[in-house]
Amino acid sequence: MSIDLGSEYGGTGSSFFSTILVIEELAKVDPSVALVCELQNTLTNKLFTTYGTEEQKSNYLPRLAKNLMGSFCLSEVGSGSDAFSLKTRAEKKGDYYIISGSKMWISFAEHAGVFLVMANANPSAGYKGITCFIVDRDTEGLHVGKKEDKLGIRATSTCPVTFENVKVPETKILGQVGQGYKYAIGMLNTGRIGIAAQMLGLAQGCFDHTIPYTKERTQFGKSIFDFQGMQHQIAQVAVQLEAARLLTYNAARLSETGKPFIKEASMAKYYAAEVATVTTSKCIEWMGGVGFTKDYPMEKYYRDCKIGTIYEGTSIIQLNTIAKCIAQEY
Ligand SMILES: Cc1cc2nc3c(=O)[nH]c(=O)nc-3n(C[C@H](O)[C@H](O)[C@H](O)COP(=O)(O)OP(=O)(O)OC[C@H]3O[C@@H](n4cnc5c(N)ncnc54)[C@H](O)[C@@H]3O)c2cc1C
Repeated sequence: MSIDLGSEYGGTGSSFFSTILVIEELAKVDPSVALVCELQNTLTNKLFTTYGTEEQKSNYLPRLAKNLMGSFCLSEVGSGSDAFSLKTRAEKKGDYYIISGSKMWISFAEHAGVFLVMANANPSAGYKGITCFIVDRDTEGLHVGKKEDKLGIRATSTCPVTFENVKVPETKILGQVGQGYKYAIGMLNTGRIGIAAQMLGLAQGCFDHTIPYTKERTQFGKSIFDFQGMQHQIAQVAVQLEAARLLTYNAARLSETGKPFIKEASMAKYYAAEVATVTTSKCIEWMGGVGFTKDYPMEKYYRDCKIGTIYEGTSIIQLNTIAKCIAQEY
């Protein structure tokens, strides 16, 4: 729950790189469990540690390290890739705000005890009015809707969350009024390395389940692994897995040491999602008919990998970011 969080708040006091390794390892077994670790560490905890007041930190972080899940509420029905065109509003009334609007696709909303909500407190300033609010689950007017029936990562809940005149004291603003867009983009840049690790672990887990089968399964009197036609495909996927791993670790290393990492994070997420798609598809093919059944886990990895090209910025949005960075370099 809290890997790179200081022990004074109940964390393990470890590093961001360790978080990435843990996400990768968990995703080898179940990408949904890896997502709990990813979102809690790279978004929720990070937002609190980076922008929270001492009071907010001491109130939330020890619980986030133990038994409180957070949800990050940015996307809406009409604003996904164009996240900062969000319509949720926060109207100031004395020393509190009234939040109204609806969020969509909120991971772990079913279980979350605290929601970090991006709402616009000054629409006339455009996206520069976006502010991050800490909203406790039991706050009056906060409603969690029915969880989506998804293709993959089905062990995660993904729900709409509605805010019906939700009263939030100004002490529950995280950071500065009007800076929410900066916080969101900053966290998502790091979060993308986490999603890259999730996709990498998923692909490696699927590969690890598949290769022993190809060595045991015989056709034409020998193991199917021993056909050169199989070996070359397996070797190619192994190279892609290693390349995705190095891109992910490099982005983590750059981010952890305070170096520019935005382009590298987008590259890692983009490429790891591509590799997860190819790997899981190939693994099913290498298994033959049984790979297509639910008796083996390959079909689940295949379904779970699709989300890697969608959340925390679609693959096209990653390519946009990479191109923007290149434009600035030349
Ligand atoms: C399972 C799941 C969990 C999620 N969890 C969260 C969460 O916890 N919190 C949260 O806030 N959000 C969450 N999201 C939302 C997610 O981040 C968005 O779905 C994602 O950013 C894409 O937005 P969209 O669905 O509105 O698609 P759109 O933005 O409508 O995109 C549709 C298509 O248009 C393309 N497109 C968009 N803009 C451009 C462009 N400029 N140029 C070329 N192509 C473009 C996209 O690449 C995509 O192919 C989650 C989504 C899912 C499915």
